[in-house]
Amino acid sequence: MNLRIVCAGFALALAVGAAPSQTIEQLQQRLGAGASSPGLPMRGADIPLVEKPWEKISDQQLFDHGKVALGYDPKAWKHAETDHFVVHYRRMTDAKKVVRQAEFYYQQIKSDLQVTQDRFDRKNHIFVFEKAPEWQQFLSDARINAWAAGVASRSELFFLSRQHDDFAAGTLAHEITHCIFYRFVGKPIPLWLNEGFAEFESGNAYAKFKGIGGGKRGSGKQGAANFPLRKLLEARVYPEDKEQIQEFYRTSERLVRFLLTKLDRKQFVPLAMKLADGASLETAVMEIYPGKFKSFDEFVERYQKFD
Ligand SMILES: [Zn+2]
Repeated sequence: MNLRIVCAGFALALAVGAAPSQTIEQLQQRLGAGASSPGLPMRGADIPLVEKPWEKISDQQLFDHGKVALGYDPKAWKHAETDHFVVHYRRMTDAKKVVRQAEFYYQQIKSDLQVTQDRFDRKNHIFVFEKAPEWQQFLSDARINAWAAGVASRSELFFLSRQHDDFAAGTLAHEITHCIFYRFVGKPIPLWLNEGFAEFESGNAYAKFKGIGGGKRGSGKQGAANFPLRKLLEARVYPEDKEQIQEFYRTSERLVRFLLTKLDRKQFVPLAMKLADGASLETAVMEIYPGKFKSFDEFVERYQKFD
């Protein structure tokens, strides 16, 4: 899978990344048989969808890219909605496939974050384009790189349906995670945190969606995850070198997995909020986990022993 994705608005800068590829077999190897969360279905349930005219959709607020995608004629799209998502589509089969995953990931992420309520009174909007020419037109109008296969921006997701190929594999989980996480923080967060959390959940939630376990480990065992910590924390754009990009993603995931699985999970969202407000990781860690580490050096030491 060599799809190239733009993970835009949620990160501090619009930049380009190549999401590491993953197959179910790789995930099974990496994840082992983790424990599932009680009360959550192991697989996404089918969600009844009813096509509605745009005027009847309960949340019509769109960010800039969403306005471009909807265009001047909302009737050109079909629309439907679930509890947390509005989906704009051409083919009902695409819409059903996407919302089934999206609602499943929403519940899984909420459970993983141990949060009962998100901060968003809006719905996520997902646009599923059917034909390449209209997709290219959207990319051009929204001033996005013409090679992008999908765009995640703030709480919105845009992608071209791949009718003969399963775009839905881990890549969609990664992209939807960006949009869902936005509901819990509602502000731009550092690049490593954005990508690390999406990588973690694209292993974790996707594996659960497919009914192949999942739990503690995300996608960190795909190779070395030793991107220098200081460079990782300061990054505003992705590294240019392809190998370095992969390592950047893996290391981001490793750091997020450390924070989520080794420290108080309930404090992950407060930590993300602090980082979104501009605090350094050092300041945020020392404030959010008081008494846990004598110094930030001790935090770094513990993280470096973690794989
Ligand atoms: Zn991403």
